[in-house]
Amino acid sequence: MESWLTTSPHRRWNPLRREWTLVSPHRTARPWQGQMERIAAPAAVQYDPVCYLCPGNQRVGGQQTPQYENAFVFENDFAALNSAAAATGAATAESDELLRAVPETGVCRVLCFDPRHDLTLATMQPAAIRRVVDAWAAQEAELGARPEIAYVQIFENRGEMMGASNPHPHGQIWATGSLPNEPATELLSQTDYLARTGNNLLLHLLERERREGKRIVAENETWVALVPFWAVWPFELLLLPTQHVTRMQELSDAQRSGLADMLQRVTAGYNRVFECPFPYSMGFHPAPADGPPHPEWQLHAHFYPPLLRSATIRKFMVGFELLGSPQRDITPETAAETLRQALARA
Ligand SMILES: [Zn+2]
Ligand SMILES: [Zn+2]
Repeated sequence: MESWLTTSPHRRWNPLRREWTLVSPHRTARPWQGQMERIAAPAAVQYDPVCYLCPGNQRVGGQQTPQYENAFVFENDFAALNSAAAATGAATAESDELLRAVPETGVCRVLCFDPRHDLTLATMQPAAIRRVVDAWAAQEAELGARPEIAYVQIFENRGEMMGASNPHPHGQIWATGSLPNEPATELLSQTDYLARTGNNLLLHLLERERREGKRIVAENETWVALVPFWAVWPFELLLLPTQHVTRMQELSDAQRSGLADMLQRVTAGYNRVFECPFPYSMGFHPAPADGPPHPEWQLHAHFYPPLLRSATIRKFMVGFELLGSPQRDITPETAAETLRQALARA
């Protein structure tokens, strides 16, 4: 790699989001005098009588969580979206350029990964994570097949720092009538790249990354985890299937097991970076569920962890990042090396 990429301020282009990230590798030595955050200790009990996600317990809405044994899905009792919205709302005039609103319809579900309160993806067995992958794929297929749904967003917020109020291993599934901002931009980028070059953007990137090697963190038969060249978050990761796949429901048996293995290794490795439960927001970007087959799209997952240099020092998106462009100090290549070492310390 050109040496200025490791020593001098520069910008890196994110071809997926069509924006620049500012990299300032010379700033890594600056002293930290900012806030330290408290990291919650991992849940110590297998069953918590006041946890609404533990089997058999009452939820705030009055429903009872059943005695489930594997992954368990239910409609969010306080959903940010519902199917009634479209029926009751009316769009503002299309001609109103300044104050424009349209009704949004959708479904919000919660997916408990495991009945045990004290487990996480990092400590679950790959076979149990595989059942979560199957549940994600089934949810994506079911919700995506609905005519009123255009996108199925599967995600997990892990840790209080990321706003997860309950340590019970769980994620969410939000299915929306419109295409949210991130996948909408990714659709434009991938469509444009295929039209201009004849290549799938992310598969082409994967080829390049495998040749260069320095940002690859983990690989198995069917999946690769890498720190994107343009990563914004210090230990951001992109997970890609090695073959062309547009949606989770299309994943083969081997690809599903490969994903379960990769999720376990990545989350366990994260926990070893600062020897603490590593908070993150992660989620999958499948192709839109709006009808066409989307050959330009490659299924992938993003991990966005906020920690910067210890269990309690996080990155903030403020100042220039909020008003200008995202910025980072440690280079993606350095982060990849740190992550490779953490994943190897099993
Ligand atoms: Zn629980
Ligand atoms: Zn994406």
